[in-house]
Amino acid sequence: MKAIDVRNLVKRFGDKTVVDNVTLSVEEGEISGFLGPNGSGKTTTIRVMCGLLTPDEGEGTVLGYDLRADQLRIKRQVGYMTQKFSFYTDLTIEENLFFVARLYGLSPASAYVRDTLDKLGLTSRRHQLSGLLSGGWKQRLALAACIMHKPRLLLLDEPTAGVDPKARREFWDEIHDLAADGMTVMVSTHYMDEAERCHRINYIAYGKLLTSGSVADVVAEAGLNTFILSGKSAQKAARMLENELGVDQIAPFGNSLHVVGKDKALLEAAVQKASRQFDILCEPGQTTLEDVFIQYMSSSRDNMAELENGGH
Ligand code: ADP
Repeated sequence: MKAIDVRNLVKRFGDKTVVDNVTLSVEEGEISGFLGPNGSGKTTTIRVMCGLLTPDEGEGTVLGYDLRADQLRIKRQVGYMTQKFSFYTDLTIEENLFFVARLYGLSPASAYVRDTLDKLGLTSRRHQLSGLLSGGWKQRLALAACIMHKPRLLLLDEPTAGVDPKARREFWDEIHDLAADGMTVMVSTHYMDEAERCHRINYIAYGKLLTSGSVADVVAEAGLNTFILSGKSAQKAARMLENELGVDQIAPFGNSLHVVGKDKALLEAAVQKASRQFDILCEPGQTTLEDVFIQYMSSSRDNMAELENGGH
């Protein structure tokens, strides 16, 4: 069964279309990533999925329940971690969880709290004041609070923003653990390494879903070509390549440069020209997910600019 199966979703705020004809599905037990520039409608789409917002157009089901008719049932079986989650800073971890357990009417509350503390490795810290926790532990408390009622679907809105790499990795270990137990997870993120931890990713830009699939599918579907330039003169070559036809992106990666383009013949001609003029090493390379996203971001921005200019 599909945990999320929605078609042609549209959500407008005033005359602004924030979610524009989005069709999306997520398999049960899958970790699905949601990526895209700020303001592209990720949070709004997530809120529609968890039954907090009603779409203006479109239809579908979440956990088998109708998106419009069964919002209350959806809410009960979804765990939603917002970007700015909050809890009582002057209560301990355990006290905060008791509070949440009572909000949800979970009974016996003590058993739910005990199991959740145990599941997320919080038992030994349960008496610590929440306000004094580090970013990573706060994140874990927030996750605990949204899985305590045993939801079947977890929607996480940028859960690891500003958390250090070690805590992020531990957080992702938890996410994979929950998915292995059958929970479906949809998570928005700006981090490429996190996108690569998802079973499937969805890229949304300015309200439109541009691509979905496994990381390998998304990279292949973008049809980009990449050359890697290295050597002392690579930076000079980059300056020249910036103005060459066929070169869409140039980005430094440590001591080398990624030169990326959609048109293989033009790109090849450009890098060959550069290697004749400069003392550089130039070889074909792997296109990364980041290259693909940058490409999508700049082309959708160009489309937006054209639309806006055309309107004046
Ligand atoms: P993302 O999560 O991708 O950053 P959001 O869904 O938060 O994107 O926002 C998409 C757009 O919708 C933004 O331009 C935002 O300002 C606007 N928006 C979001 N919520 C509301 C609201 N309640 N009323 C009006 N505009 C909103």
